[in-house]
Parts: sequence; structure tokens; C-alpha cells
Amino acid sequence: MMNLDDIVRNIKEFARQNKVPVIHDNTASLLEILIKASGTATILEIGTAIGYSAIIMTRALPEEGRLDTIEVNPDMVDTAWKNIREAGMGNKIRILEGDAGDILPSLTGQYDMIFLDAAKSRYVEFLPQCIRLVRKNGLIAADNVLYKGLTMGSEHVRHKQRTAVTRLREFLRVLEKEPQLKTVLIPIEDGVTISVKE
Ligand code: SAM
Repeated sequence: MMNLDDIVRNIKEFARQNKVPVIHDNTASLLEILIKASGTATILEIGTAIGYSAIIMTRALPEEGRLDTIEVNPDMVDTAWKNIREAGMGNKIRILEGDAGDILPSLTGQYDMIFLDAAKSRYVEFLPQCIRLVRKNGLIAADNVLYKGLTMGSEHVRHKQRTAVTRLREFLRVLEKEPQLKTVLIPIEDGVTISVKE
């Protein structure tokens, strides 16, 4: 039988071969450190893909920990379920299938941490729901905020990427000004913001 490390390695290799964008290694370590250091027991993820980051984060949770994850693409949901079951985490992870824009307003309760890793152009739209759904002193992490350097750079952005870059710049401005959050941008890999709700 494969152990969890082998299963995680295989999912990462599948992602590489099939060009599924998943969190990089240092981002994975950062999330694991945050979860353990903050005593996080409940997580909401936006953007499951094939379940890679969901499995990594769930591995860092305490025994009673739970993770909900939202995914809009049914093919991704199928593969994620297969991976989550193989990792033996079917009782800890719940996939909520649909557009986060529809699902987030229907959620209640308070999560210890929220990980934002779906359509970059919609982070700014999802943020008020994230603030509503995270507990006081809870964390909101967002991946790919530097968008291959384009968010901070001054060079011309190609048309295809322009909306995402413009909206990510807006997301960073909103995060900085949001009175309920204290935020730091960590420039590792594709850039991760970590915010705490005050
Ligand atoms: N967090 C995953 C990991 O590291 O293993 C990677 C997620 S991938 C970068 C982004 C995923 O978000 C894609 O699978 C995409 O289908 C999903 N997605 C994009 N927009 C979405 C939306 N509005 N609602 C829900 N899921 C969305």
C-alpha cells in the first residue's frame, strides 16, 4: 500500500504531466506552517483542482480538523475525489461543486483559515465573503498574487492576461486598505498574501 507521501508525490507528478496548476513546494510548506502554528482546525479552500493542496493542508490539520473546498469544473471534482479517497481523507474533506460566486454566499459558520486559489480575476469579488466567513484572528491566504511578476511590473501586459493583472492589482490595493485585515505579501514562488482578520 502507498503511504501518504507517495500519494502526494504522484498527484504532483500527474499535475505536472497534465499541466494542472497546483501550489509550489514553498507555498505548500508555508501553508502547513501557518496551519500548525495557528492551531487551525477548519479550512475553506476556493479552487480544488485535483485536490493536491486540499490533501496537503488536511495533512497538517489536527485529528478533528475539516476542510471544505469549492470547485467549478466537474472533471476536476471527479479527479479530486479519487485522490482524496486514495489519501484516506474522504471523511475530512468536503468538495462543494459549483462557482464560488454562487456557493460562498450560501455558506455559514466561521473557518479558522481560508485559502483563495481560483480565478485570479475574481479574488477581489470573493474577498468580502472570505472576510465574512473567517473567524476573528483567522487567516486568509491567496496564491499567485504576483502573477509571474506581472502584478508589480511596469511592462506591457498582453491582452489575454490584462484583466487578471488589473484585478489582482485592485485586490492588493483593497487588501492593504481593508480595515478588518492586516496583510503581508510574501514574495515566494508566484506570491502569496497572508491576512489576519482583526
Ligand atoms: N488549489 C489547487 C492546488 O494547489 O492543488 C489548485 C487550484 S487551480 C490553481 C484553480 C482551480 O480553481 C481550477 O481547478 C478552476 O477550475 C477552479 N476555479 C476557477 N474559478 C472558479 C470559481 N469561480 N469557482 C470555483 N472554482 C473555480
